Amino acid sequence: MSNPYWSDLVKSLDPYVPGEQPKMDNLVKLNTNENPFGPSPAVVDAIRARAGDNLRLYPPPESDALRETIAAYHGVDVAQVFVGNGSDEVLAHAFNAFFSGRDSDILFPDISYSFYPVYCQLYGIRYRQIPLAQNFSLALEDYPGANGGIIFPNPNAPTGMAVALAEIEALLQRNRDSVVIVDEAYVDFGADSAIALVDGYPNLLVVQTLSKSRSLAGLRVGYAIGGRGLVEALVRVKNSFNSYPLDQLAIAGAVASFADEAYFQQTRATIIANRESLNEALTARDFDVLPSAANFVFAAHRQQGGAVLAEALRQHGVIVRHFNKPRIDGFLRITVGTEEQQARLIAALDAILAG
Ligand code: PMP
Repeated sequence: MSNPYWSDLVKSLDPYVPGEQPKMDNLVKLNTNENPFGPSPAVVDAIRARAGDNLRLYPPPESDALRETIAAYHGVDVAQVFVGNGSDEVLAHAFNAFFSGRDSDILFPDISYSFYPVYCQLYGIRYRQIPLAQNFSLALEDYPGANGGIIFPNPNAPTGMAVALAEIEALLQRNRDSVVIVDEAYVDFGADSAIALVDGYPNLLVVQTLSKSRSLAGLRVGYAIGGRGLVEALVRVKNSFNSYPLDQLAIAGAVASFADEAYFQQTRATIIANRESLNEALTARDFDVLPSAANFVFAAHRQQGGAVLAEALRQHGVIVRHFNKPRIDGFLRITVGTEEQQARLIAALDAILAG
């Protein structure tokens, strides 16, 4: 599909395709790693209260109150915090700020978040994908020294597997000349955050989101923490693109989310517990399940193909994610749900596998 008015760049793009958001009733939706529990009630109250304020005015362009909240929460300086409209936007600015125009390839895993190659295409960035190890773990020792930058999720997506902080630090020790971005969208479900390393490594940027562990995918808030120099670069890009990416409601809701630590800890613990029971139920049904530190599991059935199973589950009203890609086409990525959702998934699998 093309159009005479399109630029050559737009013609060349191969945009990211997000997981579907079907509008069917009674659906068990385990395909986009959303949190099955709502956000803290305090978030909803804060958004309602702010909506009564003066929305006629622009929001504060640097989202100061939110950045101060995030800085206090993570024990860093406010000048080390950048916020954006979802971590996707933060990542897009980071690719632009640190990876574009490099002479060497930027590096990321071959099996990883599929938005990375899309940003590379948009910004004309050269990249090379480094294969995961045979057991799907992230082999950071395989990342060569000469590179235009490095990015990987921890835990990785869609495998869910985490890499130890010591391995990230070893990478940072030998890779001081380019920016290393750790995408921690799922870190709260079981990995150690590299925020602990930002003061020692001025080329480290850690990106997090409120979409998953804080159940605010619909509010679109993400952030980056790193050295002041990196944050300043992101601000320069942002202010050359959209000075007000976070609206008043997003700022109010996000601040309130960090204030309700008890709710965060409780829902996070429930998701981790549900992940373990999902893992056991799948293993008992002949799935190989990769060790997950995220709010999803990546599982391959020993007899049934991934595409066939995903389609059969859909017929039972259960939506999971399948990637039609080499090495992982036998797998299903299943978001951790409530106990009830998982019971429906397992009942559907039992019906399918018995048939
Ligand atoms: N990074 C990874 C690895 C993800 O899976 C996602 C969610 N699709 C994101 C970043 C972006 O999340 P958001 O824009 O909702 O913060």
